[in-house]
Amino acid sequence: MTKRIAIIGGGAGGICAALGAARTAREQGSQIEVHLFERNPRLGIKILISGGGKCNITHAGPVEELLREGFPHKNEQRFLKYALHSYTNEDVLAMLSSHGVTCHARDNGRVFPDSGRADDVLSAFETELRAADVTLHLNSRVTAIEHVDNSWNIKIRGGGYQADALILATGGTSYRKVGTTGDGLAYVEKLGHTIVPIRAALAPIYLQQPPAQELVGIALRNIELHVVRDGRTLASCSGDILLTHRGLSGPAALGISREAALQMDDGPIEISANLIGRNIEDCRALVLDVQRSRSQQQLKTWLEELLPNRFVPHALEQASIPLDRKWNALTREERDRLLAALTQYSFGAVAEIPLDRGEVTAGGVSLKEVDPTTMMSRLIPTLFFAGEMLDVAGEIGGFNLQAAYSTGWVAGSAAVKQRSERA
Ligand SMILES: Cc1cc2nc3c(=O)[nH]c(=O)nc-3n(C[C@H](O)[C@H](O)[C@H](O)COP(=O)(O)OP(=O)(O)OC[C@H]3O[C@@H](n4cnc5c(N)ncnc54)[C@H](O)[C@@H]3O)c2cc1C
Repeated sequence: MTKRIAIIGGGAGGICAALGAARTAREQGSQIEVHLFERNPRLGIKILISGGGKCNITHAGPVEELLREGFPHKNEQRFLKYALHSYTNEDVLAMLSSHGVTCHARDNGRVFPDSGRADDVLSAFETELRAADVTLHLNSRVTAIEHVDNSWNIKIRGGGYQADALILATGGTSYRKVGTTGDGLAYVEKLGHTIVPIRAALAPIYLQQPPAQELVGIALRNIELHVVRDGRTLASCSGDILLTHRGLSGPAALGISREAALQMDDGPIEISANLIGRNIEDCRALVLDVQRSRSQQQLKTWLEELLPNRFVPHALEQASIPLDRKWNALTREERDRLLAALTQYSFGAVAEIPLDRGEVTAGGVSLKEVDPTTMMSRLIPTLFFAGEMLDVAGEIGGFNLQAAYSTGWVAGSAAVKQRSERA
């Protein structure tokens, strides 16, 4: 008898769940129908907007490296290990290449299509789904799910479907306007699953005192950003930042945002930066050296070699040093304040880490309640999960899409194997 697997959510996770299910059914010769429900008129809208439309498809390198670099939390690494080995970055690239989508890795390991078009990536997935005989239900928002007598009733507007196994892949809750409103999380919470509270990740940081107008658009390169409370550094991230009209963006700001959002649960936090990437003692030695060798020059001449020109007056203002101060007139107190401004420049208190602006959301279905080798619920054996709705959030660099493909693939193939065994 033909069994039916329903997948809700047609992003990277849902697409790969469908492909994994279809491939496994074919390999096993099982009679299985795969149905993919997506509320939008097209699948994979987040693939289309990823990497600024260029799609940072995945990250190059061996699986162990991806786990280490891409997923800072040990429980995420443990959870994803099996999935990332089961459907690897190489598997994704081989599939894309079979559809003529060639890719390249940048020096930092991020992989992009040579064409620079996310649409090519999505089109390849769509072609693959058609070839795999997956039944697509577009414009089909699932409004409720019911688990009755070991079978699933799936409600969409104007109709309903029945399925023997269900894979939920409805994503996180950021960028809600593209369809990720957390529907799946609400459904599984009702079914008894624990949802780890949702937090922003890879999001910009809004400051209580946004940068002055003349600083908006400035990039600070290779700095070290810190989350600070009461003078104690709680988290750090290195890289570039961009000053915006609301606060901070750019890789280092996005990279630190998850920890910042978590820390905000426990009280107010501030953001500071080591602007020159040296510890205070190295910085002191450097400054003393410059003070000797450039005694006739103004400080700002040297600072303009290190920092964007427009930023320099603000660094000096934070150190309470006049803009025209020469090195030979710099007092010891002023030098100490300069060192502090360079190594602990304060951007002030954080107002918000906006959840909806995050490229990904942390939190979601508790990993403790999901079997990492099948993505099956430990509570309801015919229920599976894929992608961002799990409590996993990777770093910038293609890690999140890869986690979605891999968990999707494992969920799809495991659902088919389970259904075949029970047939
Ligand atoms: C601006 C931006 C840029 C990004 N850039 C990158 C990048 O370059 N590289 C990278 O690795 N990651 C990137 N990410 C993160 C990455 O896109 C996501 O982590 C990944 O797409 C998650 O895949 P998913 O399948 O779990 O969820 P999603 O892709 O969010 O898919 C979930 C799908 O479920 C559908 N859905 C929701 N509810 C229902 C319902 N009730 N019924 C039917 N359908 C429903 C949604 O419409 C959506 O299509 C970016 C994210 C954003 C927002």
